[in-house]
Amino acid sequence: MDRYRVKPNGEFRLAEVDPSERLTHEEGKSLGNEYLEELTLRLRELQELLYAQGKHRLLVVLQAMDSGGKDGVIRHVFRSVNPQGVKVTSFKVPSSRERAHDYLWRVHRETPATGEIRIFNRSHYEDVLVVRVHDLVPASVWERRYDHIRDFERMLADEGTTILKFFLHISREEQAERLQSRLDTPHKRWKFSAADLEERKHWDAYQEAFEVALNRTSTERAPWYVIPANSKWYRNLVTARILVETLEGLEMTYPEPEGDLSGIRIE
Ligand code: ADP
Repeated sequence: MDRYRVKPNGEFRLAEVDPSERLTHEEGKSLGNEYLEELTLRLRELQELLYAQGKHRLLVVLQAMDSGGKDGVIRHVFRSVNPQGVKVTSFKVPSSRERAHDYLWRVHRETPATGEIRIFNRSHYEDVLVVRVHDLVPASVWERRYDHIRDFERMLADEGTTILKFFLHISREEQAERLQSRLDTPHKRWKFSAADLEERKHWDAYQEAFEVALNRTSTERAPWYVIPANSKWYRNLVTARILVETLEGLEMTYPEPEGDLSGIRIE
């Protein structure tokens, strides 16, 4: 899984990751989906352990181009986890109240508490992505934000939050197919937005903004993973595997009960 991690040396090139890559399970989807099932069940156990032990917190950041699969990852990878144990925050265009504060204000208060998994569907990275692509603030302002974000995430990590950031990497052609399918399928039409077409015109600028963000903010303790995401089952599999491996790496254990329970009989 290390293969997909953006090393903190600033030399990562997005063009070198094939969005259609499928390294394992060439035999295909069905085997991949069986393995995904195992991983989702393991994730359920690990979340329970996280909660029971009450020592760690996990923040999962999801970013992608439009139709990149953020919703799909949330639905499939976390499908077996106890709904009480995982919360999703979707970051939209900031409200006027949010805009009246610094850009991390709305983000910090959504970070996970002890024992929690928090998923960010979009995140503070929008403030160096859409904001940069559309010049929503001057370059001198967004340019400083990479350092803020690194410092912010370092603080979260120092205080006990495990951070995983996923960029779901699709190709321009794949996006075209997915947007077209939204138009062509009646029950998907509600998902179609003319704004997505407008954003698609800025494809190259977004890719560049992502590449810079990935290079400048992938750190040892808050790494970015670039997930080949043209194939949905492979995307889910790789993401689930990274989550499971990371949580297993925390070596969590169930807490010892207080006192000796062995003599207790419930009548
Ligand atoms: P999604 O595409 O994630 O399913 P929406 O269609 O509601 O959800 O899109 C959310 C929109 O909010 C996106 O266009 C995104 O760029 C925008 N957005 C999120 N955060 C910010 C931000 N900090 N500044 C400007 N726009 C933002």
